[in-house]
Amino acid sequence: MTGIDLKALITELADTIAAHADELTALDRAIGDGDHGLNMKRGFEAVRAETAALAEKPLPEALKAIGTKLVMTVGGASGPLFGTLFMTLGKELPAEPDRAELAAALAKSIDAVAARGKSQAGQKTMLDVLYPVQCAVAEGKSADEVAAAADAAAEATKPMKAIRGRASFLGDRSIGHMDPGARSAALITRAIAETLE
Ligand code: ADP
Ligand code: MG
Ligand code: MG
Repeated sequence: MTGIDLKALITELADTIAAHADELTALDRAIGDGDHGLNMKRGFEAVRAETAALAEKPLPEALKAIGTKLVMTVGGASGPLFGTLFMTLGKELPAEPDRAELAAALAKSIDAVAARGKSQAGQKTMLDVLYPVQCAVAEGKSADEVAAAADAAAEATKPMKAIRGRASFLGDRSIGHMDPGARSAALITRAIAETLE
């Protein structure tokens, strides 16, 4: 896990979100206000615009800066939450993390997201992907297996009833749709996994 290529990571993240922006928006149109793809794309394009400066920073500093940028630019409910995820990772990770350090930092970062969102697993949110991702990392799964676990976890939000966020206003009518934030958490996971491979 040493020597993470930040330029490659940022490019992969921004490319992945851009390629799936319409899909994320469609998911959010079904159970939210239809802006999630646009929100995420705005945020990751703002991060992309600073690639050169970010890539010069040590990993923890770069992650904190990415998180701050996401908070400032994504907006909506998801901006502060994904921002908190990256900022806390930056605070918790050493410059050259090993697998155990990554698992520990992820656990703290996801807890920080849950605290910020006053949410927990099982409420049909991004947390329902992030926790399984942390488990897969802690279990020593390969990058590809972690990404597959994230995809499966996003899929598993379909039968859930939303208890947090805008989708919760729909009550039972939120059942049967994939949560948009869960889908973007899976996309982010796959982008990171692909860079680390
Ligand atoms: P908004 O709902 O403000 O338009 P977005 O559409 O960008 O924001 O993001 C919606 C996503 O944010 C949801 O699909 C869900 O995954 C996530 N989300 C919303 N509220 C919470 C919360 N309290 N805790 C965790 N995740 C949340
Ligand atoms: Mg929305
Ligand atoms: Mg909105």
